[in-house]
Amino acid sequence: MDIPVMTADSSWQLPADSLLAVIGHPIGHSLSPVMHTPALAAAGIAGVYGIADVRTEELGKWCTFAAKHLKGFNITVPHKENIIQFLDKVDPVAAAAGSVNTVRVGSDGTLSGTSTDGGGFLDAAAETLGFSPAGSVIAIAGAGGAARGIAFACAAAGAKEIMIFNRSRERSGALAADLQKHFPGLTVSLWQPDEADTPGLLEASELFIQATSLGLKADDPLPVPAGAIARCRRVYDCIYGTTRVLHTALDNGVPCADGTLMLLYQGARAFEYWFGQKPDVDIMKKSLAGALAGRVG
Ligand code: NDP
Repeated sequence: MDIPVMTADSSWQLPADSLLAVIGHPIGHSLSPVMHTPALAAAGIAGVYGIADVRTEELGKWCTFAAKHLKGFNITVPHKENIIQFLDKVDPVAAAAGSVNTVRVGSDGTLSGTSTDGGGFLDAAAETLGFSPAGSVIAIAGAGGAARGIAFACAAAGAKEIMIFNRSRERSGALAADLQKHFPGLTVSLWQPDEADTPGLLEASELFIQATSLGLKADDPLPVPAGAIARCRRVYDCIYGTTRVLHTALDNGVPCADGTLMLLYQGARAFEYWFGQKPDVDIMKKSLAGALAGRVG
C-alpha cells in the first residue's frame, strides 16, 4: 500500500510521523488517537494519529495540507458541515445529512468524505440493545450533529417513524425537513421535550436515543422528564459513562447503554474507509476502555 507519512512541519504541531488526525475547534482532549494509533500498529501500518486544533477559517488550508501529507482525517465539532465545501466527493447519505466526520485522501490527493457516526450508532445499538432499525419507531432527544447522523442512518436503514424532541424548534424543524426531503415515506414528528404526551410517545417507540449535550456535566438537567425515561423500552445515551439518563433508566429496569461503543464503531468504520480493511477492534476497544477508566479514576 502506498501511504504518505507526514514529514513536513506544520502550523498544527502534529507529530512528524502523523498519518491520520482529528480536527476540531476547540479540539480539547479527543479519544480518537487512543483508539487509532494502536490499530495502525496492529495492522502493521507506519504512522500515528494526531490532533489538530483547526479554526473554521483554516479549513481550506488544512485540506491542502492533508491532501499532501495524510491518508485521512476525522472531523469533530464545529466543522462537520463546513468541511463539505472543500471535498471532491461526498457519499450520498452524508451529503443528505449535511455532515461529514471522516475524510480519505486518495493516491492522487483527492478528498472523499463520509459519515461513520450513524453507522457507529447502529453497530453499538445492535450489540448492546439488540436494536434493528428496519421498520422501527424511534425517539431522539436532540437535533444537532449526532442526532442528525443517527436519524439519517436509521432512515437509510428502513426506520418507519422518527420522533424528535428538541429545545429549539428551528433546529428540529430543519432536521425534519431534510429527512422528509430524502426519505418521503418516513414519518417525522417534532416535540418539545416536556410535553404532556412525552411519556406515552417514548413508551410507543422501540428505542429512545439521548443525543443532546445534556449529561456532559454531572448537574445537567434530564433532557426529558424522568417519568418518561422510566417508560422507555430501551435507552441509548450518546454520551460516554453513566449519565443521569442512564441512572434513571437503570433505576427503572429499562435496558440501556452509553456512547462508548458508538465512538468505537464510528472509529472502526473510519479505519476501514481509509485502508479498505477492518481494524483490530479488540485492541481499539481495550485502549479506549483503559483511557476512559483513567479519566474516571
Ligand atoms: P451539537 O452541539 O451539534 O448539538 C447539541 C444538542 O444538544 C442540540 O440538540 C441542543 O439543542 C441540545 N442542547 C444543548 N444544550 C442544551 C440544553 N441546555 N437544554 C436542552 N438541549 C440542549 O452536539 P452533537 O450533536 O455533536 O453532540 C451531542 C452529544 O452527543 C454530545 O454530548 C456528544 O458528546 C455526543 N456525541 C457522542 C458521539 C459518540 O461517538 N458516542 C459522537 C458525537 C456526539 P438546541 O438545538 O435546542 O440548541
